[in-house]
Amino acid sequence: MIIDVKGLEFRWKPDAPIVLAIEDLTVAAGERLFIKGPSGSGKSTLLGLVAGVTTAAVGSVRVIDQALEQLGSVKRDHFRADHIGYIFQMFNLIPYLSVVDNVTLPCRFSARRRGRALSRGRSLNAEAKRLLQHLDMDHADLHQRAATTLSVGQQQRVAAARALMGSPELLIADEPTSALDADRRESFIRLLFDECRESGATLVFVSHDASLEHLFDRTLDLAAVNGAAWPSAEV
Ligand code: ADP
Ligand code: MG
Repeated sequence: MIIDVKGLEFRWKPDAPIVLAIEDLTVAAGERLFIKGPSGSGKSTLLGLVAGVTTAAVGSVRVIDQALEQLGSVKRDHFRADHIGYIFQMFNLIPYLSVVDNVTLPCRFSARRRGRALSRGRSLNAEAKRLLQHLDMDHADLHQRAATTLSVGQQQRVAAARALMGSPELLIADEPTSALDADRRESFIRLLFDECRESGATLVFVSHDASLEHLFDRTLDLAAVNGAAWPSAEV
């Protein structure tokens, strides 16, 4: 199992209501999982727990056989840098860095990702360009531009290339297609699938857009597995 969640209960503060209560959730290596649920239902919170950005006071989140709650925050940051590629909803690109420098960024934080990237390409920049090309960003003049001068669709591809750099075992995507129109969403997801297949990565993809669900191996309806009430989602 690449993800194994057991008996999880999560609150943002000790006296706040439970946002997530998940008895049992597992994701197998190589799986492409679609997680759906309405806005406010805890999708991003769950991804944050799986990535070790946050930890729960009750229960266990194991990722690649490591219980994240047993690591201190510094070790969790290293673990994430080594093993997890994260595509954020707002992309979180570094505005003053070029496209290529944004893509190679994970290799500055992880010697493991750096080594894996160098085993696939001649240099980090060459590997970044290969990923960008696969994601349909094949104009060399785009690669040296500052990230913020790109269109939303282009920024999304850069964010995906950055997450894929150095072949992390787990790729997490938090509503990365919400800014795109419908036909571009599907082509973007197919490109992600190609890259995941090539590197053997597991993909966990979150969206409130159920029309994308049929593309994936399996769907998880968060509301169905979450034992916590989430009143804020109803209003
Ligand atoms: P989704 O991604 O499904 O839209 P979220 O996981 O972002 O839902 O939010 C789930 C609940 O947790 C919401 O009630 C939200 O207000 C709350 N929440 C999210 N992030 C934080 C935070 N950093 N601090 C406190 N509450 C938060
Ligand atoms: Mg969210």
